[in-house]
Amino acid sequence: MTAHAHKSRMSLSISARLVLSTAGAVILVMLGFIHFFMMHQKETILAQNERTMRLMISNISSALRTIMTAGYAQIAQEFARDIQRNPAVLNFRILRINGEEAFQDNATIREVNHRLGEEEFMPRDQETRLEVLAPDHPALRKVLESGQIITLMEGQTNDHRVTYLAPIERIGKCGKCHGSDPKYRGVMMITTSLAQAQSDIEATRQEAVVVALIALFFVLLLVYLMIRGFLITPLSRIRGAMVRVANGHLEERVHVPGHDEISEITVTFNEMAKRLLKTYTGLQMEQDKLSTIIIGAQEGIVVTDGQQQIVLVNPAAERLLGKDFDQIRAAGWENLVDDPDFLRTFVAKGGQDMPNLLVFNGRALKIHAATITATDQSPIGTSIMIRDVTDEKKLEDKLRELSVTDALTQLYNRRGLLEVLEKEIKRSQRYNHFMGFLLFDVDHFKKFNDTYGHDQGDRVLQAIGRVMREYFRKVDTPCRYGGEEFCVVLPDTSPKGAYIVAERFRRQVEAMVVDNLKVTVSIGVATIPASEINKVDDLIKKADDMLYEAKRNGRNQVRMSVHLEDLESLNQEV
Ligand code: GH3
Ligand code: MG
Ligand code: MG
Repeated sequence: MTAHAHKSRMSLSISARLVLSTAGAVILVMLGFIHFFMMHQKETILAQNERTMRLMISNISSALRTIMTAGYAQIAQEFARDIQRNPAVLNFRILRINGEEAFQDNATIREVNHRLGEEEFMPRDQETRLEVLAPDHPALRKVLESGQIITLMEGQTNDHRVTYLAPIERIGKCGKCHGSDPKYRGVMMITTSLAQAQSDIEATRQEAVVVALIALFFVLLLVYLMIRGFLITPLSRIRGAMVRVANGHLEERVHVPGHDEISEITVTFNEMAKRLLKTYTGLQMEQDKLSTIIIGAQEGIVVTDGQQQIVLVNPAAERLLGKDFDQIRAAGWENLVDDPDFLRTFVAKGGQDMPNLLVFNGRALKIHAATITATDQSPIGTSIMIRDVTDEKKLEDKLRELSVTDALTQLYNRRGLLEVLEKEIKRSQRYNHFMGFLLFDVDHFKKFNDTYGHDQGDRVLQAIGRVMREYFRKVDTPCRYGGEEFCVVLPDTSPKGAYIVAERFRRQVEAMVVDNLKVTVSIGVATIPASEINKVDDLIKKADDMLYEAKRNGRNQVRMSVHLEDLESLNQEV
């Protein structure tokens, strides 16, 4: 993932996210708390209300009882109206046990007067009969059966009304006017509004919300400050240090006090940066070492980067190529030795089947070029090594020369001879050319050595070598075959020509004087083409046979494999 992609995904800062999630959590908790508080508050207020009402009912009951037992039933209606006027009371009625409102008609007055037998109570001028509750109203029945106060809720949530139904118990004194039955004289019905309680609850709710909001604000502020202090500031300090380390300031360290996780991250980061620095320093040292080796190397080294741009040319390369860095860089790696095809092909083939020796600037250079690959085998550059092998080459040539040269006579030795013969036989066969081959041996040389000594013999052999070098053509190859036997390869020479050359040479040796001493040689001549001669051994064998014949025939003479006409006159001609 790139840093850019990372950034675009991270739309909110950590602190914002933490503060928001904390806010969510706190709001949830507060809502729960407010809800619980409000429920509790509502219950408390309603319970308080109910207690008050029950107390009021109890007071009204006693007052009513007092009025009635004192015989002032006439003013009970007035008393009820008085209570009705109380603003907290929405409705107040005293009901008979059949649900009709009491003190509105003369039924009870008549009944009491009748019971007492006198006109004790004055009948009302106006009579109304009002059935407030049906006689079988469940609430009414319940009150009368249980003798408990019953609460009836009604109305909307915002304007709760609550109605209490309380039984009016018969006491002993009641019997005087009303007889002994039934158990209850009536029911007191009082309706009150819960509006006040509701508005108290609402006010409490609003206060709770305000307090919660203020608490929320301070909690969030505290959370934010804590996040900043404990998380964001130390983290951004570490982040800043990381950026500086990434930019190469490996000596960067962060100090975060304390022992929390962030401090641990800091310690780890510092340790990481320390190790990076150590590794980097080690690498730098290795690089310095390598640079020293490359700069001091005798081999020329040229290196390119992945874009084939030359990035390194060591002094040896500048010296060997006779160009400086800028020139080499400008020309490009393919033109190092002014032969772009060569280097390109060399790299392409990985050096397989490629000559790696070339002459440049008068020096023999050995070149090796290769693609540098990364661990995943992708090419990351090209390296070219150039070694000056001029001196090696000279030494090699010298050694080779020595290996094919006879020490005593400075002629080719047998190994040199075989190489030359191999080549020449093939050549004459391919082009159908003549070729001559002389093999000769010093006559009675054992005796010579015995007589004049081995050193004297060596001097004679050296003299023969000198004569051979002077006598034969440039294209001929005179060799010492071994001991006192010599041979000569004569390219492009006819049998007749070979014979003449051999005969003349024989006479030269015959005429040669070394330290007042003379020797003679016997010569065998073989020529190509000849049906029985196909290879080196055949040729040598044939010449050897001829040499043997010359010896057997009396020595100091030339013998040849082919018969030449008119040998006598030919000898004259020589
Ligand atoms: P011929 O060839 O005429 O039959 O008689 P020869 O005496 O030459 O016989 P042979 O070829 O058997 O003898 C070769 C002698 O040449 C033996 C050895 O003493 C001598 N000889 C071989 N190599 C050298 C050498 O390098 N220096 C000297 N001084 N003598 C050598
Ligand atoms: Mg011999
Ligand atoms: Mg001999």
